[in-house]
Amino acid sequence: MFRLADVRPAHFLPSLLLLAGGVAASLLGSLTEFFASLFNVLPTLLLLLAGTYCLAYERQRQTFLLVVVYLAYYFLDNQVDFFRANGRVQADTALTFHLCSLLLPLLYGGYALWQERASLSQELLARSALLIAVAAVALALARRYPDELLVWLAQVRWPLLQDAGLGLIQLAYPVFALALIGLLVQYLRQPRPLHAAQLLGAAALLWMLPKVFLLPHALHAMTSMVMLSLAVAVAHEAYEMAFRDELTGLPGRRALNERLQRLPRQYVLAMTDVDHFKKFNDTHGHDVGDEVLKLVASRLRKVTGGGKAYRYGGEEFTVVFPGKTVEECLPHLEALRLAVEHYPLQLRDKHSRPGDAREGKQRRAGGKSSSVSVTMSIGVAERQLEQRQPEEVIKCADLALYAAKQAGRNRVMAHGQNRRGAQRLETAGA
Ligand code: GH3
Ligand code: MG
Ligand code: MG
Repeated sequence: MFRLADVRPAHFLPSLLLLAGGVAASLLGSLTEFFASLFNVLPTLLLLLAGTYCLAYERQRQTFLLVVVYLAYYFLDNQVDFFRANGRVQADTALTFHLCSLLLPLLYGGYALWQERASLSQELLARSALLIAVAAVALALARRYPDELLVWLAQVRWPLLQDAGLGLIQLAYPVFALALIGLLVQYLRQPRPLHAAQLLGAAALLWMLPKVFLLPHALHAMTSMVMLSLAVAVAHEAYEMAFRDELTGLPGRRALNERLQRLPRQYVLAMTDVDHFKKFNDTHGHDVGDEVLKLVASRLRKVTGGGKAYRYGGEEFTVVFPGKTVEECLPHLEALRLAVEHYPLQLRDKHSRPGDAREGKQRRAGGKSSSVSVTMSIGVAERQLEQRQPEEVIKCADLALYAAKQAGRNRVMAHGQNRRGAQRLETAGA
């Protein structure tokens, strides 16, 4: 259920930096006039820029998150401005603040957990309807029963927590807790930059709310940075989509092409190709084939010797070893070949899936799933005087790969090796 192996600090880093900047700006007692005016317009500017950008990328979930954060900013900013100018609060300040403390985590959490599934127009309609409904009910209640609503919101429900130094109404805390837990679970199930940004954004809003009347720049700085980190996460994901292969999670062809432009003078390229993969697909089905590619990729990701693996296309992968010679890389490629060969792949017959969970458990315990293994051939070449361009080195590695296939597959061959009449490098296990 949780994909802990896919959790990356890099998912959190951009948001952490931005939000830390927001916290620092909030804590600074006074800002220069330039920064003070910048923060005054930043939330509106970000709503327009990031909102348009998210809409253009058809990221409705983020568009609505931006709107929700902006609405909280808008209502609170009116109150904070009045308080700053007059040294006292307005008659409806308490009610507005408490409503924001409750509705912000509710709507932020709700929209953040609500993943895009339906068609674009249906999504837009459903999300807008929710926002309008909640806003209409809140406004109507606040107009008609302001005193009763205030008493209900501010009521002490858990006397034990009364002296815990909490800055918000008690009701806000379980809503924040639910939102944070939900967003954490969502991130652990689907570790993506966006889910990390949403989680940190909720934590940042929880930090900000009790401070909006106390720290002069907390409201502007934190809402701006939450909005900005959501927009940055959308850009981060767009980058990942372009440069990372979705099936295997390895960097893809585009990333390889970029890497090939920035290689040092000395380097080694290895082309790997899964053996008889077409037959494997035909026997077990394309979905099982996909699972196998993921497993092969998980071995390739761990290649030693300073190599980095890319998905070249189909069942072919390229490993780049910067600053290495073929001799230095061969033991690592041999270890990689063996790691794939000896990795037992557990296949469950998809045509006779267990009828219930108990039967499934018995089957797994009884070892009814069949175990197969796949092998992979590898061709390797290095930059030389007669092949200077990476494309030429790839071509040589491809020729070596072809030779490895011709020689019986499941082996590593270096370019020129067969010409020199060399034998297979290593036959252990073959
Ligand atoms: P060889 O040992 O000569 O490499 O034999 P092969 O069957 O692997 O040869 P070939 O390169 O012709 O076949 C590649 C097959 O890989 C074709 C296609 O069915 C399969 N394939 C390519 N990409 C994918 C993918 O993303 N998922 C799955 N399941 N199969 C793929
Ligand atoms: Mg192939
Ligand atoms: Mg193949």
